[in-house]
Formats: sequence, structure tokens, C-alpha cells
Amino acid sequence: MSTESCISHLVCSQTGEKLAYDELQTFSPANKPLLAVYDLEQAAARLSKEALQTREHTLWRYRELLPVLSTGNIISLGEGDTPLVPLSQAGAKLNMKQIWVKDEGQMPTGSFKARGLAMAVSKAHELGVKQVAVPTAGNAGGALAAYAARAGMECFIFMPKDVPRINYMEAKLTGANVTLVDGIISDCGKMLAEQKEKHGWFDVSTLKEPYRLEGKKTMGLELAEQFRWELPDVIFYPTGGGTGLIGMWKAFSELRQMGWIGEHLPRMVAVQAEGCEPITRAFKAGSDESEFFDDAETIASGLRVPKAFGDALILKALRESGGLAVSVSDEAILEAVRELAELEGMVVCPEGGATWAALKQLVATGQVGRDERVVLFNTGSGLKYPEMLETLT
Ligand SMILES: *Cc1c(COP(=O)(O)O)cnc(C)c1O
Repeated sequence: MSTESCISHLVCSQTGEKLAYDELQTFSPANKPLLAVYDLEQAAARLSKEALQTREHTLWRYRELLPVLSTGNIISLGEGDTPLVPLSQAGAKLNMKQIWVKDEGQMPTGSFKARGLAMAVSKAHELGVKQVAVPTAGNAGGALAAYAARAGMECFIFMPKDVPRINYMEAKLTGANVTLVDGIISDCGKMLAEQKEKHGWFDVSTLKEPYRLEGKKTMGLELAEQFRWELPDVIFYPTGGGTGLIGMWKAFSELRQMGWIGEHLPRMVAVQAEGCEPITRAFKAGSDESEFFDDAETIASGLRVPKAFGDALILKALRESGGLAVSVSDEAILEAVRELAELEGMVVCPEGGATWAALKQLVATGQVGRDERVVLFNTGSGLKYPEMLETLT
């Protein structure tokens, strides 16, 4: 079988131990996330920036830098290639001219979780998996259920009973077995861990398998391409498990090694909610890992992750990039969602709103300059949050 993927092996993100990519893998023997490593010299030789332009407008255009070996195994709903929407009126309020929203609300299943789960499900399908399971704060469950349905896999989802109602309904409708849990994502994770071995389910929890990260990495590849290989100055990312932030930082590193981008890399800003801010606290404390955040509570359900499995990688990316972590209140999030709707016609998710609230905060403190090029991530469609929209109207 000929393959375009230039994947070479997997490594433990802590010890560097090598593992094979051609069998089913979870996390490393050291209990840390595994990272996919590619032969980037080969990738640079096989793929050109010009050739990319002629390819399909989905994330699968970057297949040399993705883990799926055979295109026949790709399970796709047309994910990727989301637009960069300039914020002109909102930007003018801050006296800034170069702010864009990378609008992931336009993805299949209405959130950027589609990127990671399209990749994880496609790769699992390639490796013969028939049953998948996930603990979720909401959108990952909807996305996994959709791709599992398309792949003909059985799907088991554990979600808090107070997730946005839509997340429950979309997962049910696409045929998943949904367990509503009296707790938050960490409780869902525990429940899944107790059951998965008995049933033989493959667990696609954030960073507990290597490929959701590779799907989210494509946000970084797209940004580089959309900015004509001159990356912006600051990226605001609403951080729960942190997959996208770690993934984009990995993408930039791979592009640098390929010689496709220069030395200027963006400062990565992790945005959290005040009601669940383990990364902000760890960043401020100067620690390499976060501590479990008790009684996590925020309207931004995707940010309600009290302890991220990849916390060390998030903190590393923030520090390497010269970025930081910042928290915003639920009131500031709601205000931000309202502002983007009124000024820009964008109905963003609360997590996306958080990035606009955070930008305003960091411009006020001078940590972001008014002449800088800034990208905010709107990670999902506000239309998935009717409960929030009700409180705003
Ligand atoms: C999951 C989620 C997040 C957090 O993403 P991570 O990569 O886990 O940090 C942010 N926004 C939305 C809408 C989400 O569903």
C-alpha cells in the first residue's frame, strides 16, 4: 500500500521513549501523552506550498503531516478550512486593526472537536477498532458520536447531566449510548475508566490516544497557510484539555523544521474561566504541572476541565512561546458574546467569547499591543448554546 503520510513513530512526551505507530496506542508507559513524529525532510520533499493550493479544502489536504496511512480509511464530514473573519467594528473599539476570529463554529457538528475526532476515529478505524468511548464536557461527545456513526462503530459517551442539552441530543440522535453523570468531566472519566476494559472499548479521551492532537494540529497548519506563512503575533485559545494549543504549537514546530515558516512564532495565550482556572494558577505559580481545580463551575462548559492530562505540555507551549494564561469571569464572557453578536454579527460560543474578553483585558494591561496581529479562536457555534442565548435576549 502506498501512503502519503510521513509518520515515522510515536514518542512519550516526557521520557522520549519510542513506540510504534502501526498498532493501537493509548498513552505512554510513563502515563504521559504520546506525540506523533514525522519524517519532516521527506514531507518537505514530497509536498510543496504550491501543490497544497490545488488540494481539497478540508484538513485532509495536509495528509503528509497526518497519521492516516490510506485515504480509504478517512472518515470525513468535510471538516477543516474554516475562515479567518476580521473583527473590524469590535477592533475599532479597541483601536486595533488586525484582529481575526478563526471561526470553528462553521465546522461539522458545530465545534472544532470535529477536527480531533475525525482524525482519531479515522485512525482507529484504520487499526480495526469497532467500539469507541469518551468522557466529555459536551462537544467531544457530539463529534465522536457523529464520526463513529459514519465509521459504523459503536459509541459510548459519558457526559455531565448539566451539559448543554444539544450535546445530549446530537449524541443520542447519531446513535451513541449516552450516560448522564452527576458530576463533571473528571467524574465521567473515572466512570469510563471503570468500564472500558470489561467491554473492550477504545478510549479517545483528550491526549489518552495520540491522534486527536494531530487533528487539532491542523488549526496551526491552516493559520500558517492563511497568513501566507507569516504567523500572527498572538493567538488566544480557550483552554480546557488544551489539545488545540498543544497541537498548534506542534504544527509550528513541524513547519519550522520543514523550512516553511521563519523564526517569528506567535505568543500563545491560554484563556480560562475564573470558575475553572487550573492552568492560569499553575502558570502564575511558575509550576510545570497544574493542580486539580475543586468545584469547577463556568458557563463555558468546554473549559470546565479541572485537571488536563496534557497540562505539562500546555504550560510548556505557553512558556516557550513567551505567552501566558489568563482567566475571565462568566459575566465578562456573556458581555463578550453579546458584543461580538451586536458589533460583528457573529453568534459565538461562550468559550469563543472568553477569548474576546481576554483580549480586552490584555490590551488594557499593555500585555498585547494595539498594533499586533491577533487571532482569537471561536471554537464552536453559539447556536449550540440555546440556554445561553436565552439569557442574552
Ligand atoms: C472542548 C472545547 C474547548 C476546549 O478545547 P481543548 O482543546 O480541550 O482545550 C473550547 N471550546 C469549546 C467549544 C469546546 O468544545
